[in-house]
Amino acid sequence: MGIAANLERIKHDIASSLLRSPDPGGKVTLVAVTKNKSVEEINEVLQKGHFILGENRVQELRDKYPLLPNEVEWHLIGHLQRNKVKYIVDKVKLIHSLENYDLAVEINKRMEPLRRPMKCLVQVNPAREETKFGLDVSQVIPFIKEVSQLPWLEIKGLMTIAPEVDDPEEVRPVFREMFELFQNIKNNVHLNNVEMLYLSMGMTSDYKVAIEEGSNMIRIGSGIFGPRN
Ligand SMILES: *Cc1c(COP(=O)(O)O)cnc(C)c1O
Repeated sequence: MGIAANLERIKHDIASSLLRSPDPGGKVTLVAVTKNKSVEEINEVLQKGHFILGENRVQELRDKYPLLPNEVEWHLIGHLQRNKVKYIVDKVKLIHSLENYDLAVEINKRMEPLRRPMKCLVQVNPAREETKFGLDVSQVIPFIKEVSQLPWLEIKGLMTIAPEVDDPEEVRPVFREMFELFQNIKNNVHLNNVEMLYLSMGMTSDYKVAIEEGSNMIRIGSGIFGPRN
């Protein structure tokens, strides 16, 4: 199937999964993940009116940024090293992978001269996988409290990458735990610069289950563009 048809099918599946979700009248933001994909391939989704794109590597985002139109809303979804923050602060709308205080301080410092805050999601590692970045569930609220002191950074929600499994049903409990944490913070933690708007979870293999469990932002690469080269 082609890219345009894939995009249509995913939008259709999002709508049906939403009906089984905690917020059936809600909305799910689709981030099209463009890693390893060419400008020609990316243009196919832009032509369909989809402008929210995600990259997991700073270098790839920097390479593609000048080649694509200004309407693109870039999200950085992968691990971010402190020394690379300066290259992306003027390019991205949302960072999904905030997961340590030093990184938050660096983002804050780089946003100050731009006179606007960076929107960030806190990356959580609920399954405590050693190969993945992100905070333990128990660390999230203390971390958010610390970061809320930084004026040029806004916490807009949480993000997770679920463990890779054969059957997405296996990770349903992980998504459920994330939604509980998200709701808990939304209802009980009232801080400056903190607002639980986005719960970024779900990729090609597991986005339907993620939406059923309360995700409102999914990151889809191979499901749109086909397998990675
Ligand atoms: C690659 C990537 C995705 C998308 O993965 P697919 O399985 O191709 O949909 C989502 N999130 C992150 C952080 C990624 O690096």
